[in-house]
Amino acid sequence: MSEKIEGTIVILSSPSGAGKTTLVNKISRENNFQISVSHTTRKPRSNEVDGKDYFFVSESKFKKLIDSDKFLEYAKVFNHYYGSSKDIIFHKLNRGQNVIFDIDWQGAQQIKKKKLSYKIVTIFILPPSKKELYNRLLNRDKNNERIAMERMKQFNKDVLHWKDYDVVVINDDLDKCYKKILKILNNKKTFKNQNNQKLISLHVDSLLN
Ligand code: ADP
Ligand code: 5GP
Repeated sequence: MSEKIEGTIVILSSPSGAGKTTLVNKISRENNFQISVSHTTRKPRSNEVDGKDYFFVSESKFKKLIDSDKFLEYAKVFNHYYGSSKDIIFHKLNRGQNVIFDIDWQGAQQIKKKKLSYKIVTIFILPPSKKELYNRLLNRDKNNERIAMERMKQFNKDVLHWKDYDVVVINDDLDKCYKKILKILNNKKTFKNQNNQKLISLHVDSLLN
């Protein structure tokens, strides 16, 4: 009897603006990873496409999806709802496809708690500095200082969750960071405890000061 081959779940989280969406898109474009397209109640950015970047829905529609148990996980982030819809994800994993998630620490925690049978790799992305993070946020949101500041306010809390992830990577040079992640994903034997805990801890301290 042939053994059933299931896909792997890969989760990327980070403080907002560190670069996880950019990395997830690059990983998926160039490798065998299917992106889990989330539902959200936030408004699309000018370059975002409905059904590709997110399924943009109203709050009432989102709440209906919660009530009908459609989400593998969901959370409220920056005053908007975000969630990963169960059916599509399981369908892909059960066909042996790897699924990559760009979700926050709350979603990662919920998925881990479910103790699913699939292999899970969790990766936390850090920015090189707070100044660079702010510039990236401003750049992405068309110099909207209000949005950038709102997201920076959350930084100190969000960054503390790095300890819950299998691997932590600093996204300074995009290409180098991407290659590091690929190396981790291609290492079939072990992806755990690859962090230099001391180095990461020092970097996080520098970000918090
Ligand atoms: P996140 O999904 O973590 O909120 P994004 O992927 O949207 O972050 O990246 C935020 C902004 O920073 C985007 O405009 C993106 O193009 C840019 N960016 C991402 N990685 C880098 C990098 N290594 N160097 C410079 N800019 C980057
Ligand atoms: P953004 O508005 O910048 O696209 O995303 C804001 C935050 O919501 C990011 O941390 C992103 O990873 C997170 N996020 C996006 N989709 C989901 C999701 O489906 N579930 C959860 N828990 N977080 C999500």
